[in-house]
Amino acid sequence: MPARALSGDPLESMSPLTSPQSGSSVFPAAVVGGGVMGALSALTAAQLGMRALWFGPPESDRIDGAQARNYALSPSSVDLLKRLGVWPSLEALSCKVTRMEVFSGSTRVDLTASDSGSEFLASMVTHGHLISALEQAVQFCAPITRIEGRPSSLSFFADRVQLSFGESVFEARLVLGADGARSWVRNQAGLLWGQRDYEQSAIVATFRTEFPHGGVAAQWFDDGDILALLPLADPHRVSMVWSRSPMDSNALALAADGMAQQVTDRTSRRFGCLELEGTLTAAPLRMLLTDQLTAMRVALVGDAAHTVHPLAGYGLNLGIQDLLCLESIWKHHRADPGSRVALQAFGKQRAPQLKRIQWGLDLLQRSVVQTHPTWQRAREIGMRVVAHTGLLRQLLIKQALGPH
Ligand SMILES: Cc1cc2nc3c(=O)[nH]c(=O)nc-3n(C[C@H](O)[C@H](O)[C@H](O)COP(=O)(O)OP(=O)(O)OC[C@H]3O[C@@H](n4cnc5c(N)ncnc54)[C@H](O)[C@@H]3O)c2cc1C
Repeated sequence: MPARALSGDPLESMSPLTSPQSGSSVFPAAVVGGGVMGALSALTAAQLGMRALWFGPPESDRIDGAQARNYALSPSSVDLLKRLGVWPSLEALSCKVTRMEVFSGSTRVDLTASDSGSEFLASMVTHGHLISALEQAVQFCAPITRIEGRPSSLSFFADRVQLSFGESVFEARLVLGADGARSWVRNQAGLLWGQRDYEQSAIVATFRTEFPHGGVAAQWFDDGDILALLPLADPHRVSMVWSRSPMDSNALALAADGMAQQVTDRTSRRFGCLELEGTLTAAPLRMLLTDQLTAMRVALVGDAAHTVHPLAGYGLNLGIQDLLCLESIWKHHRADPGSRVALQAFGKQRAPQLKRIQWGLDLLQRSVVQTHPTWQRAREIGMRVVAHTGLLRQLLIKQALGPH
């Protein structure tokens, strides 16, 4: 785990400071990170009556392929969006996943929402629709001060953090790092992190399908790859996430030509003939772990704190669970959500849950990418058992409904 040096000695800067902006102008929370988790964090704080600063460059400036992503939101993530008043503008643009089909070799297992009495397994939304609904909600949310840019420095004090932005200095009781896997906040706070490289890329693309998808998400585990086709709001459009051997941009450009045919064949025409829409993007797959979720007056959420393999669609849902945990703590610490007690409660509740989920998904990834015939056979036998055992299917559906 590489150590991240602090930009300044926090103990040195802990001497009492008289600042013209201290006192009532100190924001309870400053969120750093312009993505989905940043917006959700600011809205959650505001809903509890806390004033929040929200820093982040415009999402349209992003060049990391996030615009091509689609999220399978678990029912509890959708519940948060409902409570924040964001869901009404998103619902018509989303697609309910009501069945999941899993294939390995000649074996198939179906998991249906109705098996466990749920209405749906997940709701698919595009990154673009989600972020614009959140940004719109922020515009009408008076307690949030939006700053379109990155703070240039953080100075830590016992009772607050100073955030510099150009000529301005802001103060907050808590800085929430929601600035993604390469988190600047994490580094500034000196939090240790490490990662496991899956030596795979996720190729993301959108296809037009010959047959309507009918709200079915399908996944294939074969030859060490994991291929998923996920339904979108248009009944003839699916999002692909194909976790496979790494691809650089040249290989990706070459792959685009034959991709639709390759995926049509690979999926045995489950949705008929596929037609590529737009371009392919590729993202390296890594599990990022942090030693701690908090430091003095700092907490991390979302990809800044953890990343996972996308095979179960957990990534953003895990970040939302971080926020639900913080929300329950903030209810009792609205004036000072960065206090030691509040931060300790977050670390104590959330860190063990995260470790369990991250290593559980890692184990699942390791078992499904095994190509040795013995492993393949064991996998197929396991799937047949699941296909014929209602209780096991219910257990898997519980997992598919997202992290808790
Ligand atoms: C291929 C793929 C498919 C996925 N599919 C799913 C899925 O189906 N379901 C799911 O739940 N998850 C999925 N995920 C995971 C999901 O995309 C991430 O978990 C989620 O996007 C993380 O959101 P975030 O806001 O924490 O981080 P990010 O999306 O990385 O956002 C970070 C933001 O911070 C900003 N920023 C960076 N540095 C600074 C700074 N210094 N100051 C201010 N702002 C800064 C960036 O510009 C960006 O806007 C997938 C991931 C991949 C790679």
